[in-house]
Formats: sequence, C-alpha cells, structure tokens
Amino acid sequence: MNIITIVGARPQFIKAAAVSAALLRTGSITERLLHTGQHFDDNMSSVFFRELGIPEPHWNLGISGGWHGAMTGAQLAGIETVLQEQTPDLVLVYGDTNSTLAGALASAKLHIPVAHVEAGLRSFNRRMPEEVNRVLTDHVSQWLFAPTQAAVDNLKREGMEGEQVHCVGDVMYDAALHFSEVARARGKPTPAALAAAGRPYALATMHRAENTDDPHRLRVIVEALSALSAEIDVVCPLHPRTRGAIERLGLGLAAQAGMHWIDPVGYLDMIKMEQSAQLIVTDSGGVQKEAFFFHRPCVTLRDETEWVELLDAGWNRLAPPQSSATLLAACRTALGSSGRPVNPYGEGDAAARIARILQETLA
Ligand code: UDP
Repeated sequence: MNIITIVGARPQFIKAAAVSAALLRTGSITERLLHTGQHFDDNMSSVFFRELGIPEPHWNLGISGGWHGAMTGAQLAGIETVLQEQTPDLVLVYGDTNSTLAGALASAKLHIPVAHVEAGLRSFNRRMPEEVNRVLTDHVSQWLFAPTQAAVDNLKREGMEGEQVHCVGDVMYDAALHFSEVARARGKPTPAALAAAGRPYALATMHRAENTDDPHRLRVIVEALSALSAEIDVVCPLHPRTRGAIERLGLGLAAQAGMHWIDPVGYLDMIKMEQSAQLIVTDSGGVQKEAFFFHRPCVTLRDETEWVELLDAGWNRLAPPQSSATLLAACRTALGSSGRPVNPYGEGDAAARIARILQETLA
C-alpha cells in the first residue's frame, strides 16, 4: 500500500515524526513524504528531520511566501502533478495549514482518498486561515482521525460520523512522550539562552496572524512580556513571521535584562524548555497542549481555543491581548497555578491506532 504524506510546516513535522514511525512498523505500508516547502529555514524545517528520525522528503516543492491564495494555489498545482504521476492509494494530511488544504483538495479532485490527522478541531472563528483550512479539509476526507471527543462532536454537528470518524487521541501526545525520553537520553545541555539566565523563567511563543498582523495586539504582547520579564525571566523563541512583524512595526527587541528573544529551537530543545518553565504564554495550538502534557500553567494569547478541555480543567486560560496590564495580570495569576487531573488526549498510542486502521481498511 502506497501513501503520500503532505507536510510543509513545523507542527506537521512533529506529527509526522510520530505517525511515520508507526506506518513503517506496519511492514505493509510504504510512505513517501511530499514537503511543500512552506517552512524552509533550518530551524523551522531541517532540524526536525535531522533530530526526529522523519524520513527525508521524497519531493520538496519549495513553495512558500505570498498571500494565502498564491501560496495555496501554487502548492495545489505542484501536489497535483506529483499525485498524477504517482497515483498513491491514499494521501495523508495533518492539521490546518495551507499545505493541508492544498494536499486534501488536490487529492479529492483526483479521486484519491484523503486521511486527515487532527480532524474536527474548531475555533468557530472563520477569520482564522487555519479554521477555513481545517473545515474544508475535513469535508473532503474519507478518514477523519480526531484527537478528542470534542473534535468528534464537532464533526457530528457537521454531518460527519460513523465509520469515517475515529477518535484515536492526539499524535502530539505520542510525540511528547516519546521525544521527552529521546531528549533526556541525548543529555544535551539546556539551550544557551537558558543556561545564561540560570533562573526560573516563563516561556513564550506567538505566531498566529491575528496577533502578528494586528499592530495593537502585537504591541500589547511585546509590552506585557517585557513587563513580565522584570518579575521573572522570559524566553521567547521568535517565529520568523513574528520577528518580521516586530521589526516592521519598529517595536525593537530591547536587550533588557531578563528578556531573552531567541531564534526558534528544535523540538528536543523546545520540550526541555517547556518542561522546566514556570509558565507558558502562547498562541500556538501545539504549545498549549505541551504545557498541559508537562503540567505547566498556560496563558493563551487568543480569543478562543480549539483545545477547550484544558480551559475546563484549569490548566489553561484565555488572555486576548487587548491591554498589556490585563495580560500581565493573567500571567501573574497563572504563575504557580495548576489544573485538575484529566486525560483528554488518549494513551500515547494515537499514531499506532491510525496505522492499524489504515492497514486494516486498505488491506
Ligand atoms: N516548537 C519548536 N520550536 C520552537 C517553537 C515551537 O519545536 O521554537 C514546536 C512546539 O514544541 C510544538 C510545535 O512547534 O510542538 C508547535 O508549532 P507551531 O506553534 O508553529 O504551530 P501550531 O501548533 O500553532 O499549529
């Protein structure tokens, strides 16, 4: 059985690290990766292939940048050409990026079945490009691998239920469990910025368009983090999009004691940094969950989240970046807090379950 998996952006490499290994273990599935090129910097792409044992992409389309239509359109055409030549039995896509939508749409038009990992997530905010991508991808997929019961319920409300939908758990939980061991065994020292800090710290990441493309929100975040850094060190690995937006706005990344703006780090360093952070402040979907996996309190820089279970259980709270004083207050409240014990993301065997289901249904 031949599968082509479409990846393109950082979180997809991490999900693929879990699922590709499980597909390989079946012994009967041949998987080849198509990288759209959406993320291309060494620290946004290659480092994940080097460190996480993901198979080298068979194809790299080198398509990145441009506005949504231009990027998705170019990816769609590039993926279509490969699929026409290769005629795989199935195309696998992850999450909610432009690469996800391009992969799903190209396959559906060629009548190649699509499997969507991380199906059913909804923010119910159609202004988010990710929400558009995930809704459309779900509706053209034959296999919907939902990470949570809430995701299954969302699919059902949109008419997708029955044999098509599999609640398998979250492959990012599998990855966090497995690679925590790998990171520990690697025994590499803590990243330089933290070794330099040597003190308790909060870890912050942001890259969502609603924050980077809105000057007010971005200014509020930078101000609040800077103010927080007077109370506890703040380490912020900056996504290239965020760095670009901060520079365009002229906000400046003040070299202020306690505030560590650093380049993006590889996943093994990232999970180590998360594990020892006192607080996580983020607009990332993946990082919200990793905060919970490692029992760290989390403040989410958004108006809503797809991972509602963590709000209910008290591990996470929403802090829309409207005012820096309010955001700073949310961080202070979260510091030292914890949530209720819950287990919404499965048993760490989501990837194995996906591989088994595909193997059985395609056999
Ligand atoms: N991540 C990383 N290095 C960083 C920042 C994040 O490896 O410098 C990882 C993080 O641990 C998580 C994933 O990237 O597993 C989240 O990706 P991102 O925030 O880009 O996307 P989202 O999860 O919001 O779709």
